[in-house]
Amino acid sequence: MNNISDKQLLRELRSRLEESRNIEQKLETLQMEYAVMSKRLRDSEALKSHFISNITNEIVNPFTSILGLSKAILSVEKQDWKKIVSMVAMIHNECFNLDFQLKNIFTAAKIEAGELSPNISKVNVRQLIQSVIESFSVVARKMGIEIEFDYQIEIGFGKSFDFKTDSEKLRQILTNIMNNAIKYSYKDSKVIVKVWMDDDELNISIQDFGTGISEKNQNIIFERFKRLDTGINSINQGHGLGLSITKALLDMLGGRIDIKSQKGEGSLFTIQLPESDSIVDAGMIDGDDAMFFEDGDELF
Ligand code: ADP
Repeated sequence: MNNISDKQLLRELRSRLEESRNIEQKLETLQMEYAVMSKRLRDSEALKSHFISNITNEIVNPFTSILGLSKAILSVEKQDWKKIVSMVAMIHNECFNLDFQLKNIFTAAKIEAGELSPNISKVNVRQLIQSVIESFSVVARKMGIEIEFDYQIEIGFGKSFDFKTDSEKLRQILTNIMNNAIKYSYKDSKVIVKVWMDDDELNISIQDFGTGISEKNQNIIFERFKRLDTGINSINQGHGLGLSITKALLDMLGGRIDIKSQKGEGSLFTIQLPESDSIVDAGMIDGDDAMFFEDGDELF
């Protein structure tokens, strides 16, 4: 049997006490981390179930009104054109929102499944932006919003200025920012779309003079399913996917998004996009866009 001195015994006891204190501390830290994680999980579950009930309403309701309106058109007297035009405008509005939201939902699903890849072509930026602006003309007119287009790409880059990027992704990015700019604008205000080149990067800004976003909230709006609790949200459609998709698409194209906003004054969203120099996916051709190979040789 080993005889240990009182001193050794004390030392041993002290070291074991120290060890058990360390373990207790680690346990406390783990418990705290666990509490934070489970709160995040609960929040995320709540956001998801909210999201599902939201999109169910937003898909079922437009379909119900499209069905109702088209049935009503069929029974309108032929000479009553004004009635027909206003009902067709409502159908257009419902279809526009439905198309916008379904595209976002499918893109979000693809991003989550890791199935999204760039499809680079030579894009006529001016035409693309004009067609995005045009797609909002009906809703903008209805709200008395004037959309100003300030295209500042120098002649020289010229009329035929093209930029190698993914046209459908750029269109979805701009559609999301534009949709918000109009949705959160006050009636009878203005939205300004500006385009310019800076250090070989394409810059596009969209400015509104609407509700604005407080500094604290400017980072969280890029999180999935996040919507700010402002009065205007309750009367506006949306499910908090748009900006998270915008950010993910820009990341894929090597771009960035910057926001300047002040509550009650409006918001300025600016995207910066470097030109792509290679074709990653030559699967589909969008409109008149030309396709490029790795070395930049034009195919069409
Ligand atoms: P949503 O479908 O809710 O618009 P987004 O991801 O596009 O989802 O935007 C997230 C939130 O950011 C919105 O719910 C809104 O509160 C805020 N937001 C986005 N753009 C603007 C804007 N231009 N002006 C004011 N608030 C905005």
